[in-house]
Amino acid sequence: MSLHDFITGLPKAELHVHHVGSASPRIVSELAARHPGAGVPSDLEGLERFFTFRDFAHFIEVYLAVVDLVRTPEDVRTLTYEVAREMAEGQQLRYAELTCTPYTSVLRGIPIDPYTEAIEDARVAAERDFGLVLRWIYDIPGELGIPAADATLEYALEHRTDALVGFGLGGPEIGVPRAQFRERFERARAAGLHSVPHAGETTGPETIWESVRLLGAERIGHGCSAAQDPELLAHLAGSGIVLEVCPTSNVATRAVDRIEDHPLRSFVDAGVTVTINSDDPPMFATTLNHDYEVAAGLLDLDESGVAALARAAVDASFAPADVKARITGEIDDHLRRELFSPNP
Ligand SMILES: [Zn+2]
Repeated sequence: MSLHDFITGLPKAELHVHHVGSASPRIVSELAARHPGAGVPSDLEGLERFFTFRDFAHFIEVYLAVVDLVRTPEDVRTLTYEVAREMAEGQQLRYAELTCTPYTSVLRGIPIDPYTEAIEDARVAAERDFGLVLRWIYDIPGELGIPAADATLEYALEHRTDALVGFGLGGPEIGVPRAQFRERFERARAAGLHSVPHAGETTGPETIWESVRLLGAERIGHGCSAAQDPELLAHLAGSGIVLEVCPTSNVATRAVDRIEDHPLRSFVDAGVTVTINSDDPPMFATTLNHDYEVAAGLLDLDESGVAALARAAVDASFAPADVKARITGEIDDHLRRELFSPNP
């Protein structure tokens, strides 16, 4: 079996992947057909062109056009269920923490209760139909400031579902100081939610320090610029703070110039726990499988090393203990089959 095939068949957990950002051309086509006035093509060929990004500004434009197609609770349900199907069938995902931004849906006219009902309905159906366990992270769209933070906290605390495990912070980092969100993160953490902000994707290590010190981050989304600060790397390693690394996304958004410049290896060399993730896979023309292959290349990993990366994601997840044990067992079985199967 090639490393490619090994990765394709490897059972996995993913920790950093966005809800709307996971809408594939197939899913967007279905939503676009429901809302023909939205200006998004519904034929697959037109969508392939639509999804070919010229630059980062164009990516944001396409992302928002897709956000705009999610107009009813039924759209939310379809999006979530179909994303789960592709995760399970295409990427062998057994567990995913999907980052949702309920604030943008509420702004577009879907009240929080029907929104929550729709994602929960899809979650239960996905577990039943695809064997994929889903959990939610609600993130604050940071560029919308304190009103967005207050609303997101309210959705998390007053309209809570048992499947909500984390509280995040996304959107652009430049001009969005982390300190302003401190109190919201304190309240979310006091209610038992895990702190998982994005940091150090497009700004320096000081944003990661702030996220650790002020927001109580347990995992950091991206964290690219940690590589510039040995003291920070030592702190992350020593306190078990995990990096959610998204290699292909980092090149697509120019957080890293070229994949061969990606700091993944310096994280591992410093003893920091890393997990591999796909962020907004169809929008960055990637898949989780592809990102595992990229990571294997950057770290010179064989099958055992790749299996260790997959186990690290399970360990760093907020999945129930029995789910963790089951997926880890499946990863070990997959590796054992590979190591003990006679190679032609
Ligand atoms: Zn992200």
